[in-house]
Amino acid sequence: MIAEEIKRIHTELPAGVKLCAVSKFHPAEAIREAYDAGQRIFGESRVQELLAKVDELPSDISWHFIGHLQTNKVKSLIGKTSLIESVDSERLLDLIDRESEKAGVVTRVLMQLHVAREETKFGFYPEELIEYFARRKFESLKATHICGVMGMASNTDDMERVREDFRLISETGKRIREAAPDLRGFDIVSMGMSGDWRIAVEEGSTLVRIGTAIFGERQY
Ligand SMILES: *Cc1c(COP(=O)(O)O)cnc(C)c1O
Repeated sequence: MIAEEIKRIHTELPAGVKLCAVSKFHPAEAIREAYDAGQRIFGESRVQELLAKVDELPSDISWHFIGHLQTNKVKSLIGKTSLIESVDSERLLDLIDRESEKAGVVTRVLMQLHVAREETKFGFYPEELIEYFARRKFESLKATHICGVMGMASNTDDMERVREDFRLISETGKRIREAAPDLRGFDIVSMGMSGDWRIAVEEGSTLVRIGTAIFGERQY
């Protein structure tokens, strides 16, 4: 079942779009099943859970952190991820940078955008993020590579609204590249989940994050 879903999604994804299998709240055995089907990128949203899975599972897995990252957990996460997708404040970014420098590693991150209507979602507003790059604040980073943007669409059945949200995320990525044309390797647009990833791909996603459609419902 898990293997079949993974294969089905991979056949449907256009070349150049990667799949992050969101394994949060699912046990290591489920991840192993996906791994055996060839999946290597997994997404987790809680630091303790990610660290436990890193220890238990094969070392060639690329772990993406996709949840809200509390500042007191940053240090323990550094060096364990191939991408932190959910940087939602400058304060968090600076802390990641400081801890990465101390640890002697370069951390790859995405900047999380807030475009959805829900009040509870974290992230930068598009204009705020463009401003960050236009003012070239990223130049002060010593051990962090910003690789692109991440975002979620509104949680609604209105698929036109969802499409507009994705378009805004994708457009913000483009405007950042225009604001700082010398920015290197800023090319990831992470968007699209189980219910909306096809629309996200149509609107320019290069990385989809799919959980439920692969692993089934989560038991919280
Ligand atoms: C849980 C989660 C997903 C996966 O959602 P599904 O609907 O299960 O595919 C994707 N992105 C983020 C940020 C998440 O927290």
